[in-house]
Amino acid sequence: MDRREFLASAGLAGLVVGAASCVSANKNLYTSRTPKIPKVKVSLDRIVKETVGLRPFRPSGPRSDCEMLGNKTIVHNYGHGGSGWSLSWGTGSIAREKAMATGEKQFAVLGCGVVGIATARLLQERGYEVTIYAKDLPPHVTSSRATGTWSPASRVCDPEKITPAFRETWERACRFSYQTYQNLLGMNDIVSWVDEYSVRNEMAPANLLEDRLVIEGLLPKREWLKRNEHPFRERYVSRLSSMMFNIPSYLHRQLSDFIMFGGKIVVREFTRLEDIDALSEKCVINCTGLGAKALFNDQEITPVSGQLSCLIPQGEVNYKLSTQGGSIIARKDGIYLGGNGIVGNWDTTPSREQTEKVVEAIRQVMDHMRG
Ligand SMILES: Cc1cc2nc3c(=O)[nH]c(=O)nc-3n(C[C@H](O)[C@H](O)[C@H](O)COP(=O)(O)OP(=O)(O)OC[C@H]3O[C@@H](n4cnc5c(N)ncnc54)[C@H](O)[C@@H]3O)c2cc1C
Repeated sequence: MDRREFLASAGLAGLVVGAASCVSANKNLYTSRTPKIPKVKVSLDRIVKETVGLRPFRPSGPRSDCEMLGNKTIVHNYGHGGSGWSLSWGTGSIAREKAMATGEKQFAVLGCGVVGIATARLLQERGYEVTIYAKDLPPHVTSSRATGTWSPASRVCDPEKITPAFRETWERACRFSYQTYQNLLGMNDIVSWVDEYSVRNEMAPANLLEDRLVIEGLLPKREWLKRNEHPFRERYVSRLSSMMFNIPSYLHRQLSDFIMFGGKIVVREFTRLEDIDALSEKCVINCTGLGAKALFNDQEITPVSGQLSCLIPQGEVNYKLSTQGGSIIARKDGIYLGGNGIVGNWDTTPSREQTEKVVEAIRQVMDHMRG
């Protein structure tokens, strides 16, 4: 059933359910055939970690041009907003083409987040020598504070700034990343497919960006579920097969591969362009994320902060869910609750109030779900 058919049937069913709900208890919503899914144990005392990450957002989208710095070519690859995990291999392959065009055999990659690591691995795949230079390594990078879901259009640009050229580059990057991730399936679940439920009392508002940047046929279609096809109390429920990344094990695996193939990592902060100019490599790929603001004087890039609150992992829970006021993703290292984005906020102090808000939103769903 697609969204339109669902809305038509939900309209009729809603009258019946609406009237019935005045008198019926929650248990009457379900029959013995109603599907069950394992409940998340959601309470404040099970929160073991809270993090705030800063998405590197550029209204015009990720930067991918080249510039000369003295006798060096700088290939930019940063500013992925909320889609850096999803697009890392794709924009990395575009940066690799530009780097290879210089004819150099040794490359410097600045930055050791998901974008820098993917770019470095792609260069190694073609036999080049690569050194990663970075101020911070995982888990002290933005990439380690992400949700870890396939979301290639999330805060990737301002929807008003989508040009045909941007769309074409984005689609190329998206398709390349998607294929690369399929090749990583089955490796200790660093990448996996999961069910993602959207569970709401009201239809979610349209997302301009995610509605405009879609590739028909890339993912299986979202299914709208009828009352007897899901275990939730809420009225609008849909399910999508989606990809997720187990962030710590994924980054560990990619960095181990990088070292196994002869890569070097130098922990170093660059504060002046002269320090980059002094590197021995003649081509430098800039994957410094938000760090590019100060280092390359990028006036456009701005942080969009996002807080995650982590519950103790539950092996039996293996789905994602979003509802009004919050979302969860069950990773191997914990069940992550999130859902906010504050534009222009540089503060990475977690807010207890935000955790309480999202815990309450998810608890509302879990309390009434058939588990
Ligand atoms: C809460 C949250 C949820 C998210 N969820 C998702 C998601 O589900 N899916 C998705 O696709 N994306 C998601 N994102 C977005 C994604 O995390 C980012 O787009 C991505 O991490 C950016 O990666 P990066 O490698 O460019 O930057 P970073 O991970 O920030 O790495 C930058 C690197 O550059 C180094 N560096 C910076 N400046 C300097 C300097 N001056 N000298 C030396 N080194 C420097 C840093 O030390 C670091 O090593 C999320 C982000 C947040 C905050």
